[in-house]
Amino acid sequence: MTSPLFTRVAIVGFGLIGSSIARCVAEYPGLAKDVVCIDRSQAVCDRVMELGIAAAASTDPALVATADLVVLATPIGAFADLGAIIGPHLTPGTILTDVGSVKQSVVRDIGPHVPDGVHFVPGHPLAGTEHSGPDAGFASLFKDRWCILTPVPDSDAAAVEKLAAFWRGCGSQIELMEPGHHDRVLAITSHLPHLIAYTIVGTATDLEEHLKSEVIRFSASGFRDFTRIAASDPVMWRDIFLNNREAVLEVIQRFTEDLTALQRAIRWGEGEKLEELFTRTRAIRRSIIDAKQA
Ligand code: NAP
Repeated sequence: MTSPLFTRVAIVGFGLIGSSIARCVAEYPGLAKDVVCIDRSQAVCDRVMELGIAAAASTDPALVATADLVVLATPIGAFADLGAIIGPHLTPGTILTDVGSVKQSVVRDIGPHVPDGVHFVPGHPLAGTEHSGPDAGFASLFKDRWCILTPVPDSDAAAVEKLAAFWRGCGSQIELMEPGHHDRVLAITSHLPHLIAYTIVGTATDLEEHLKSEVIRFSASGFRDFTRIAASDPVMWRDIFLNNREAVLEVIQRFTEDLTALQRAIRWGEGEKLEELFTRTRAIRRSIIDAKQA
């Protein structure tokens, strides 16, 4: 039998994404011998041991010293402090990665704390749900989803390939991207849609009380889909918008212009303009289904 890719994976922040990675290690062969959990919350550590999804769980970040793959999976606002805390405990040869939804800020916040001999390869699995915590994870979360790796200029090529192999073992397809490019792509494909969902649900919530109850009672699939997205973790999304500020502000500007054009088309009864756009967007949905990303 060939030995696994890693001896021990330490996951810092054992919520939806962290616990899903741990479940992958348990279910799919060849990824790692074991997984340990580091979380600031003792309740999370206790629950992880109860669920039996890690070999050990601790609130002590020094546990990363026992691992040859360390995955940061907390909200990204915690990364700068975490980098300073775990940096001195990382051992040479270890691969340090993360799953954060913004990549330039991760390079900025973690980069300065990476000791010599530790291989830093930032990453982002494009998979998730609106649920949080160690109970929410599941092993098939990453199956047929993209995982984007954003190596930094001095990332070791062998470490990048080893991490890619780990993610492929979790079921993902790998794409390499420059961190800034990643942030611009995700601003439009993920961050703006979440902002729109938060806005729509917020607007409905601010309506008169009687209308609000009707909004909930008669919520058709359109509004219902937005409420699912707007139920995503508030801390995680606060951190995403604060850390991908420039790219998000740019797409909001473009979106606002396009919305104004639609407003004008409705006001002037320009039905052909509306139909032309809706026909184009329907084709995009079809291509997402064809790419098995629906
Ligand atoms: P989650 O379910 O809320 O889990 C995060 C865990 O990290 C919680 O147990 C939290 O503890 C813990 N934590 C917070 N600060 C910490 C610290 N300083 N030290 C140790 N543990 C800490 O979050 P998630 O959905 O897995 O997201 C985690 C990361 O994945 C985020 O960076 C996010 O951007 C990225 N991501 C998320 C998705 C998604 O759809 N959810 C998809 C792709 C990537 P407390 O409960 O005490 O706060």
